[in-house]
Amino acid sequence: MSNTSTEFIFTLGYWLVALCLAVPPQEFQSAGLTIQNLLSHWLGSEELHFVYYHMKRTTATVVFHSLIPIGYYIGLAIAVPDLDLWNISQVRLLWKVYLICSVIFCIVSCSLAFYWSRKKWNNHPIAIKLGYLGDAWRAVASSVNIEFRRIDKFASGPIGRRVIVTDSWVIKTTTYSIDIAHQGDVHLTLEESQTHDIHYESNTTVQFLNIRVDSVNPHTKSFKVRLNSIEYNDLKDKLSAPIRNVRNILIHQSLTDKFLETFRDQVQLNPVYHLPSNAVDLDPCIGCMQSTANIKLQKLCDNPDRGDCVQCYCRPMWCLECMSKWFASRQNQNEPQTWLSSKSPCPTCRAKFCILDVCRVQR
Ligand SMILES: [Zn+2]
Ligand SMILES: [Zn+2]
Ligand SMILES: [Zn+2]
Repeated sequence: MSNTSTEFIFTLGYWLVALCLAVPPQEFQSAGLTIQNLLSHWLGSEELHFVYYHMKRTTATVVFHSLIPIGYYIGLAIAVPDLDLWNISQVRLLWKVYLICSVIFCIVSCSLAFYWSRKKWNNHPIAIKLGYLGDAWRAVASSVNIEFRRIDKFASGPIGRRVIVTDSWVIKTTTYSIDIAHQGDVHLTLEESQTHDIHYESNTTVQFLNIRVDSVNPHTKSFKVRLNSIEYNDLKDKLSAPIRNVRNILIHQSLTDKFLETFRDQVQLNPVYHLPSNAVDLDPCIGCMQSTANIKLQKLCDNPDRGDCVQCYCRPMWCLECMSKWFASRQNQNEPQTWLSSKSPCPTCRAKFCILDVCRVQR
């Protein structure tokens, strides 16, 4: 093979692999070929020490990225010895400039990484950001770590581009840092939505939402988070403040959310159940303990296809929200088209009911 073609193939291969390691596509991530996985021992556990993990991850990323240009020069010198790249005084001017720039880039980045790691990471940009959010950055870090360990946090996306919402914090991880704001300080605004026709995992339409996070803390810069619209409700549930949708963007829902809406609409059309006049007050729903129990199951359907519904004699114990979720959870998750015509057992007495038998309670 001629030198030119070896040089070409090496150049192409090197930059392709470097790019894939720097911005890993799905295939690289599933094969575990990411900086996080290669350095997992040194990085420690994200679950236990979230802040330290990301300080080390971003530092390693800076060092790794700074080695890519110089690595190309060394690799090419080995792959194509005829170019005589080791003989630095003899190489073409262009190569000299390239080499000097990559060495400077490498030295600056490694010095920066070293500086960040000094004084137990006091100089790291993440430590500085956390310092603006409380009296001492280590106290803020410990609060973030503790809340990140909880299983009820919201988290979406791969490690270097993840959106996390805990009880008190809104966090986005980025390649070289993290964005973080206190929940009490933020306003969230739904800015834009993008719809893609085919999603490589599920072959369906997906909608991505861009949400801007603004903080009243003058030291916290605004940042944007991006997520799949089917995760929107989970995100909303975890936030204490509402997400403003000033542009009235229509949000695509997950199948379950769509079903729950249809279910509730149908129940509004069903006959209501009148409480007997001597009835005591309604209890709170035993599912959520928040709303008042407002649903009574009565066998009303007379369609022979739905013939095996059974009268339920339970007093109203559930709210509409919980009953709709219960009904959806009892369905075959792979055949959503059958849900509306299916049945579910009463959560208390197991009597079968269909959607026509679900009645709102009225005095
Ligand atoms: Zn409930
Ligand atoms: Zn029952
Ligand atoms: Zn029925």
